[in-house]
Amino acid sequence: MSRTLDLTIDLINRKSVTPEDAGCQDMMANILKPLGFEIEDLSFADTKNIWARKGTEAPVFCFAGHTDVVPSGPEQNWQTPPFKATEKDGYIHGRGAADMKGSLAAMLVATENFVKANPQHKGSIAFLITSDEEGPFINGTTKVIDTLEARNEKITWCLVGEPSSTDLVGDIVKNGRRGSLTGDLLVKGIQGHVAYPHLARNPIHESTLALAELANTQWDKGNDSFPATSFQISNINGGTGAGNVIPGELKICFNFRFSTEVTDQQLITRTLQVLDAHKLDYDIDWTFNGQPFLTDSGKLVEATQQAIKGCTGRETVLSTAGGTSDGRFIAPTGAQVIELGPVNATIHKIDECVKIDDLDTLADIYQDILQRLLA
Ligand SMILES: [Zn+2]
Repeated sequence: MSRTLDLTIDLINRKSVTPEDAGCQDMMANILKPLGFEIEDLSFADTKNIWARKGTEAPVFCFAGHTDVVPSGPEQNWQTPPFKATEKDGYIHGRGAADMKGSLAAMLVATENFVKANPQHKGSIAFLITSDEEGPFINGTTKVIDTLEARNEKITWCLVGEPSSTDLVGDIVKNGRRGSLTGDLLVKGIQGHVAYPHLARNPIHESTLALAELANTQWDKGNDSFPATSFQISNINGGTGAGNVIPGELKICFNFRFSTEVTDQQLITRTLQVLDAHKLDYDIDWTFNGQPFLTDSGKLVEATQQAIKGCTGRETVLSTAGGTSDGRFIAPTGAQVIELGPVNATIHKIDECVKIDDLDTLADIYQDILQRLLA
């Protein structure tokens, strides 16, 4: 049986729904320690994190990932028990198989094989592992990065194991992500009878033109690496439920996914200009979910493209599409960051699974990247 599969099964069988770790990180540490890694527990509040490092020199190659998984949903809807890894038709099934316990297993096997073949390798190898990537991500990677930054410990190259592949392992590598900014807008009016509108102020009527303008604004044109910034309204709530009442307020939630052509501050300023131009009476709360980042070239991208080509024959495609990831906390330190993991077709879904052969291929690719950068 493949060692990567073995470790994947061990991890899936630990029910580590955010922020639980369920012993996954101890299991990983027990493999890394005998290879010469120093393990540092950097847990904060309910979140378990480890920083493991072998070597003291630069450059530092870091594997980053998370041991937590999203909930399974109703277990009876699964073909196999979500927290008991089950082999079926060449796939291993279970929550976290693709996102991202298979990647963690591949990182461990790649490191074992690389260190055994290159005991005197250059630089350092590190693991940054958290148990809260899927949840509020307050006490996870961001806190570990703060700790490393405070003592000026730098990551040169970071490979995040998020499931980046679409059809075949390695077909897509994420070399950046868009930024994300959410606005919660409360537009205030004056409640009244629909038959006496001159005694009321209708926040729905007043908002519609402003919202139409926001929805039709071209925020930027994107660039070679990013699509144009998008603005999407996700929720509108207003009204009392009665047909004869003008409501006193309207709540609107919207989100920007933005490119490197604009900043969060520019988006906020331009949004407020539109709201003010339409003379709305409003309160607004902003939630900033992460800056965009991009690793458009450099040794990490090069080594990754060559390793994928060498192990699979595939020309990988670099992409910045998709949601946010913990890469957004690591990239601002100056690290080159890419995301490479298994096929993401079933992530967060019922019957999450990963192709068993892909796990070994992924371990081979990871090892080949180490070889190219640190041998
Ligand atoms: Zn993930």
